Amino acid sequence: MHSPTLLITAAIFCALVTSVLYTMWAFNRNVPGLKLWTLSFFAASTFAVNLLLRDVLPEVVAVALAQVSVGATSCLCWLGGRAYMGRHPLHPYQRACVVLAFVALFVLSVYFSAVDPRPGLRFALVSSFAGVFFLLTAQTVAQGRVRQFPARYLFAAIVGAHGLFVLLRPLMFKLAQPGNMADPDADLLVMLSQFVVLESTIAVVVIGFGTLMLTNEFITTALRRLAETDPLTQVFNRRSFLTLLDKAMSSAQRIGAPLPVLVLDLDHFKAVNDTRGHRGGDEVLRHFVQVALRCLRKEDVIGRLGGEEFGVFLPNSDAAGAVAVAERLRAMLAASPAYAETAQPLRMTVSIGVAVASGSEASDAVLQRADEAMYLAKQRGRNRVEILPLAAVPAA
Ligand code: GH3
Ligand code: MG
Ligand code: MG
Repeated sequence: MHSPTLLITAAIFCALVTSVLYTMWAFNRNVPGLKLWTLSFFAASTFAVNLLLRDVLPEVVAVALAQVSVGATSCLCWLGGRAYMGRHPLHPYQRACVVLAFVALFVLSVYFSAVDPRPGLRFALVSSFAGVFFLLTAQTVAQGRVRQFPARYLFAAIVGAHGLFVLLRPLMFKLAQPGNMADPDADLLVMLSQFVVLESTIAVVVIGFGTLMLTNEFITTALRRLAETDPLTQVFNRRSFLTLLDKAMSSAQRIGAPLPVLVLDLDHFKAVNDTRGHRGGDEVLRHFVQVALRCLRKEDVIGRLGGEEFGVFLPNSDAAGAVAVAERLRAMLAASPAYAETAQPLRMTVSIGVAVASGSEASDAVLQRADEAMYLAKQRGRNRVEILPLAAVPAA
C-alpha cells in the first residue's frame, strides 16, 4: 500500500536524525533526556526499516515489531521530556502501568494478527498508545515561562500536533470508508496511508530539530548561569548584580519608586581564615548566603561583590523596609553559628550599610553611598546597620 520511495526516504531521514542526535549526545552527555530522545529516534528508525522489510519478515513478527517500535518511540519521547524537565523518575506503580500498557499492546497486536487478523483495530490500538504519549510529552515540556524558554514551547507545539494527528488518524481512515466495507475507495486509502507515512517522516525531522533546539537551550542556559553566578555561593557575581541593579534602578526611576540598596560585609572575616583555614572561610561565606536568603523575598536580588562583601537590592521596598530587612538579617546571622570545618560553633556578625536610590542617581553612586554606610557601621562597632540619606556626609 505504501510507495517504496516514500518508505526509503522515511528510513533515511530517521537514520539521519538518529545519527545527528547520537553525535550530539556523545559530546553532551550531561543534557538530561537527550539519551532517551536518541533512543526514541532509534526506535522510530527500527519502525521505518521494519516497514521496508515487511514483505520479507513473517507477518506476526513484522506486526509485533512495528507496533512495539512505534510504542517505544512515543514512550521514550515522553521519558526524555520528563528527564529534560528534571521530573522525578517514575513511581514503581507508574512504571508498572507503562510496562502493562506495552504488554497489552504486544499481546493484542499479536492476537489481532495471528488469531483474528484485524489491521484496522491494530492501527487504532497503536495510534491511541502513541498519540497519548506524544500529548503527554507536549504537556510535560510546556512548563516555565514562554519568554524564558521559547524552544520548549515550540517543541511542545510540534509534538502535541503530531500526537493529536496520530491519535485521530484511525478516524480519518474510518471516514474514508463510510459504511461500505465491502467496497472501500482503494485509491483514497492508498493516498491516506501515504499521507500517514509522509506526516511521520516530516514529524521525525521537525521533532529532531526541536530536540536539537532544546539541547541548545539547555547548554545556553547552563553557560549563562555559569557566567552570571559566583561559583562559591551560587548567588549573582558582581558583574551581573551590577547589571541587574542598573535595570532595576531605571524601572524604579520610571515609576518614581525608591530602590533600597544594601552593602553587607562580614566582620573580622580574615580571622576565620586564620583560625579555620581557607576552606572554613568558604564554608562561612556559604552559610552567610543561606542565612541571607532566608531573610529575603523572591524579588530581592543578592550578589557577591567580592571577597566577603555582598550587595542586595530590594525592589518594592523603601528605607524603613530595607532597614528592617537588614536588622533581621544581622540578628539572624548573629544568632546562627556556622560550623566551619570543625564541630566548634562559630559566631559571625555582619555590618550593613543601606542607601536608597532616588531621582536620576546612577547605580554606582547609590552603591557607593551604601558602601560608605557600611564603613560607618564598621567604625561604630560592627554588627550593626547604618543608613546614609542622599548626599549625606559620613561621620565617624
Ligand atoms: P572587617 O571586619 O573590617 O571587615 O575585617 P575583615 O577581616 O572581614 O576584612 P579584611 O578586608 O581585612 O579581610 C577580608 C578577608 O577575606 C581577606 C581575604 O583573604 C578573605 N577572602 C576574600 N575572598 C575570600 C574567599 O573567597 N574565600 C575565603 N575563604 N576568604 C576570602
Ligand atoms: Mg569584612
Ligand atoms: Mg571587606
